[in-house]
Amino acid sequence: MKAAMFYGGPDIRVEKLPQPEPGPEEVLVRVRAAGICGSDLHGYRRARLQASQEAGRQSGHELMGTIAALGPGVGGLRIGQRVGIEPEHLVGCGTCRYCRRGDTHLCPTRGQRHGERQGSHGFSEYDVCIARNVHPLPDSVSDDAAAILDCYGCAVHAVRRVPIHPYATVAVIGTGAIGMNVGQVARAGGAARVIMAGTRPEPLAVAREAGAADDGVANSQADPVAAVLDLTGGEGADVVFETVGGNAPTLEQAVKMARRGGTVCVMGIFTTPPSLDERTAYRKELTITWSNSYSTWNGLSEYEIALEMLASGRIRAEPLITHHFPLDRIGDAFAAAADKRSSGAIKVLVHP
Ligand SMILES: [Zn+2]
Ligand SMILES: [Zn+2]
Repeated sequence: MKAAMFYGGPDIRVEKLPQPEPGPEEVLVRVRAAGICGSDLHGYRRARLQASQEAGRQSGHELMGTIAALGPGVGGLRIGQRVGIEPEHLVGCGTCRYCRRGDTHLCPTRGQRHGERQGSHGFSEYDVCIARNVHPLPDSVSDDAAAILDCYGCAVHAVRRVPIHPYATVAVIGTGAIGMNVGQVARAGGAARVIMAGTRPEPLAVAREAGAADDGVANSQADPVAAVLDLTGGEGADVVFETVGGNAPTLEQAVKMARRGGTVCVMGIFTTPPSLDERTAYRKELTITWSNSYSTWNGLSEYEIALEMLASGRIRAEPLITHHFPLDRIGDAFAAAADKRSSGAIKVLVHP
């Protein structure tokens, strides 16, 4: 089979690998679509490693496909079935106190199985998946939408972290896929209004079209903090989702645009310690929380909650999926995802 191998930085090569075989309680999936995640781009943007000395590795944790083979002991699934896949870097041990209470994403040995590090391989023709991570798809969920269920799982989890009330005004900082996903889930979850703040007007137009925001403020046109305060009568937003991370000043902005007694939920991954105006946070008595991946909400799978939201049509993934590439052009796919300003990309899919 063909698979993309990542050698560090932008060095991605499509190579021939032996086709994997499913073991007990596993299935073989023919991957049909895989999304490029912001976290995939962290490695891509890093200076190229010494490729010759570095073993390549497979990647791709936002994936869907069709079942190609069943391992021993797998029930309830059949060959040819379309499925969404919960990625393997999120598997918990199942026995620690976090796993037992449903917080598998907090498991100290998360992403390990039989003592080995696990990961999904969406940028490959085939991947072996743990059978219980495989979710059959209804016809109302397209292949493209199913590929980014992982992102929607993150959005459901973030909304769970900061219960959203029907009167809540929500601000979302960032117009990347995660910003769009959390805006959509917050609106579907009953937020009174979602204001999205980004650098450029174009994705904000997509956000409104996709039901991810009611209002948009572009940095290029106005100071985002002043604009959010302006749109909320000077009060600020009840809930602010920070979805940018990196070295952006967005945590500071989030604190400034939150209402007194409000909540800031950080979804972005910062590469340098972000500055924080703690006096403002203190004065407003903010709750600042982080949201990392997803697991369960009152015992229900957050991945499946996301799947049901897509299946019912309450959220639409398609307007966010801007680019499609075959596996052979995965380098171009990463280039488009890494330079959203010139490509106009929001979510880029690779179709192995
Ligand atoms: Zn991801
Ligand atoms: Zn555990």
